[in-house]
Amino acid sequence: MNAAKRYKDIDTPFTCPISNRIFNSAKGLSVYVTKTLKMDHSEYYDKYVNHRDASCFFCGGKGKFISIGKGYRNLCEDEVCVIKSFNSHSIEGIMYRKMCGRKEAERFFDIENERQLKERMKTFEKLRGENPDFDKQRNPLCVEFYTKDGMTEKKANEIIRELRKKNAKKYSKTIKSDPEKYASKFPTKIEYWLKRGYSEKEAKDKISEIQNRFSLDICIEKYGDVKGLKIWEDRQNRWIETLDNKTEEEKIEINRKKLFNQSGYSKISQKLFWDIFENFNQNNIKFEELNGEIIRYDKKNKSHYRYDFVDFTTKSVIEFNGDFWHCNPNEYNENHQHSIMNLTAKEIWQKDRMKLDWIRNRGYDTLVVWESDYRKNPKQTLEKCIEFLNK
Ligand SMILES: [Zn+2]
Repeated sequence: MNAAKRYKDIDTPFTCPISNRIFNSAKGLSVYVTKTLKMDHSEYYDKYVNHRDASCFFCGGKGKFISIGKGYRNLCEDEVCVIKSFNSHSIEGIMYRKMCGRKEAERFFDIENERQLKERMKTFEKLRGENPDFDKQRNPLCVEFYTKDGMTEKKANEIIRELRKKNAKKYSKTIKSDPEKYASKFPTKIEYWLKRGYSEKEAKDKISEIQNRFSLDICIEKYGDVKGLKIWEDRQNRWIETLDNKTEEEKIEINRKKLFNQSGYSKISQKLFWDIFENFNQNNIKFEELNGEIIRYDKKNKSHYRYDFVDFTTKSVIEFNGDFWHCNPNEYNENHQHSIMNLTAKEIWQKDRMKLDWIRNRGYDTLVVWESDYRKNPKQTLEKCIEFLNK
């Protein structure tokens, strides 16, 4: 089964095995089958022409017969399959309609989702303008969700309390099931902050700040065993809730913004680049904060490469690699699974190498600077870079 072709056209010229007559068009053959042979078209097709796949794209059963020229459509008449063929929310539906492969269908799917989301956001903006309680009335964790239908506030609060308990339980179960996968969703995990553009050190500070603030010990010390524990638990629940509270649209929108705003360069790298620039301000240099990013397209590998610092005058490239994102070999072994990139360290290194090879093949020299080296000894790193550009 594949979606490459909707109809399985007949090859012409076609020789009728009954009479050995040659037909140059499907139309001629069709008239001949009706008038001369007086045969049913699908019967003739099955017996003498059916040399290609006639199966339904979705169920693999026999497709619907169209004509001698077109043969079978790769969709049967079963209601389930017909509905699937119209479904724009399924990858298969898109594969079928656009007659494309899975990868491409997934891309279409994303584009379509994005478009629908934008439309929904527009509608919601309008509804919010008309009704300030619009969001609350749609949120099962808000009293307004229930009182709009006439429920008392007391009863609504009871339901919400139960729901919160259930959510908290569900969340802790989910996290425990795959801690690495969910790491970036929790502000107590380093991945959460790294994903939002913080450096490793800042991320660690953030976490210890939260841990101090939220520490159970502090609560117990302040309020005693029972009350302290209760307060601490409530706080945890509320914390989880703020993440769970968002509507699906908001979540998608937040993720989208993250994708688009995530500029992919670390702030600390720019400090080094400005310092280098001061020494070479006559050169034709590019880096993010000076004049935007440098992106090149590798046709062969179909990849876009972003270069951190390029000096077109001396034909030099400096890559500033964050230890976490690029899996510094001093810290990670090749089998380390990167929790956000969904790649192993080895695969990340391969990608990085391909990127450097691409620009080297164009006559550029390259230098890689590791964030941790720079943090440990900024002056030495700067000198190394200057030396590199002076070579
Ligand atoms: Zn089917």
